[in-house]
Amino acid sequence: MPDTIFSKIINRTIPARIVHEDDRCLAFHDISPQAPVHVLVIPKKPIESLAHAAEEDTDLLGHLLATTTNLARTLGLDAGYRVVINTGKEGGQSVDHLHLHLLGGRSLSWPPG
Ligand code: 5GP
Repeated sequence: MPDTIFSKIINRTIPARIVHEDDRCLAFHDISPQAPVHVLVIPKKPIESLAHAAEEDTDLLGHLLATTTNLARTLGLDAGYRVVINTGKEGGQSVDHLHLHLLGGRSLSWPPG
C-alpha cells in the first residue's frame, strides 16, 4: 500500500492535533471539521479501507470502535455522536488508509448526502 497523508501523521512527518495514541491506533482532529467535534481514528497498520480488512484484523477493528466510543466520552459527547467509515470511491473515501470519523457536538441530520 502506498504512503498516504495518514501514514505521514503516524510517523510525525506532518503535524496533527493528536488526542489519543496507543500501540495500535492514533486519533487526531480532522483538518476540515464537519462538526464541533470531528476526530479521525486510524489503525497504525496500513489497511487501505474497511473493505481491505482481513479476518486477522477483527480484534483491531474492535479496538478502533472501543477507542472511538471512549474518545466520545472523553470529549463530552454525552448527547450522542456519529461514527462513519467512508469506504471506496462511491462511499466517499478520499484517503486510502482506513479511518473512523467521530462526529458530534451538534444535531446531525439523516440521511447523509
Ligand atoms: P474520507 O473522505 O476519506 O472519509 O475522510 C478523510 C478525512 O481526512 C477528511 O475529513 C479530511 O478533512 C481529512 N484530512 C485530509 N487530509 C488531512 C490532514 O492532512 N490532516 C488531518 N488532520 N485531516 C486530514
